[in-house]
Amino acid sequence: MARSCSIDDCPYPHEAKGFCNKHYRRWKVHGDPLIVGKRGGGGNVRLGFREPMDDWDKKRVTCLLEQGLSYRAIQRSTGICYMTVMRFKKKLRNGLA
Ligand SMILES: [Zn+2]
Repeated sequence: MARSCSIDDCPYPHEAKGFCNKHYRRWKVHGDPLIVGKRGGGGNVRLGFREPMDDWDKKRVTCLLEQGLSYRAIQRSTGICYMTVMRFKKKLRNGLA
């Protein structure tokens, strides 16, 4: 039986402690899986937040970009700043990612 992440709206598969890979790592590092993109207050992720994207992020962002999601939508679903996503897309286009 596939479990999924216990975070609301998180579609990713369970990895450990009830969280997906990403949330589990946040929980381990920050003690709070929602340290980025706390819900409420309009639900916006803190702007200007930069997180270096690892392979996991790149895979997800690439996939979401392929689905035609906007930078903002990707920011909402991954917690990665839309600026970072934008830069990443530019790199992708230039074959550097
Ligand atoms: Zn999750």
